[in-house]
Amino acid sequence: MSCDRRKLDDVIEELLKDPQYAEHPLYDALNRLWSQSRQQLERLERLTHISDGFQKMARDETTSLEQRYDRQLRKLERAARISDRYQEMMRDLNNALKDASTHDQLTGLANRRMLVERLKAETQRAERQSHSYSLAMLDVDHFKQINDRFGHDAGDRVLIDVTKTMQAGLREYDLCGRWGGEEFLILLPHTLATDAQVVIERIQDAIRQQTPPEGLPPLGITVSAGITEHQRGESFSDTVNRADEALLAAKQAGRNCCRVA
Ligand code: GH3
Ligand code: MG
Ligand code: MG
Repeated sequence: MSCDRRKLDDVIEELLKDPQYAEHPLYDALNRLWSQSRQQLERLERLTHISDGFQKMARDETTSLEQRYDRQLRKLERAARISDRYQEMMRDLNNALKDASTHDQLTGLANRRMLVERLKAETQRAERQSHSYSLAMLDVDHFKQINDRFGHDAGDRVLIDVTKTMQAGLREYDLCGRWGGEEFLILLPHTLATDAQVVIERIQDAIRQQTPPEGLPPLGITVSAGITEHQRGESFSDTVNRADEALLAAKQAGRNCCRVA
């Protein structure tokens, strides 16, 4: 096409230069048409050039905008990641603090504070719904001898094993906590003392059969237990005291047994 056009341009230019056509009636019209066409072509080229310039500017502008947007996006993503991590850390810290204030460090069991909270709540519920709960106080027999013979660390490992055995023998909604030293309190919601006795004796049996911690000889670990049922109208500490008395009775009866008050 541009080749044809060039050919046509050459033909017209030659015609216009040729003196024999100078007087031709169409010479003037062709000459004007020719120069108009040249002018229009030049204008078109200028416009194309300007338009190309604009397009390039727009392209450059878009690219730099895109780059700026990408950079900003990356910064935001980084900030979001940091903020997420920070929130996660705060959450973990909070959970750890909460856990430390309600759980025993050695065994991971509920500590005395959490036990008291649950005892209060359970006592209120028992009053409202007029059904009772049972408590069992358990104490490892002659535990001091374990420490004396094998050291405090061995004693710790025995306590951890006893904890695991107790928890394995309980229902999900029972609560076993460390009342102090080698003494544990088990709260059995919705449970009569006679039913609690079955659960606790099974746990005592499992503790007797427990294998000793690695590196220690058979230890013959046993626990004594005192069980009681919450009575309507009494405070939770009355119930705890009665379980304690029942435990004392079990100790006096020769240990490794269970008494119900
Ligand atoms: P009893 O059958 O009358 O309960 O005798 P016992 O030796 O178990 O009781 P006693 O109260 O004389 O001793 C309890 C021991 O438990 C003394 C204490 O040092 C030890 N003890 C308490 N808490 C821990 C602990 O977290 N780790 C270890 N290793 N020992 C503990
Ligand atoms: Mg003891
Ligand atoms: Mg004790």
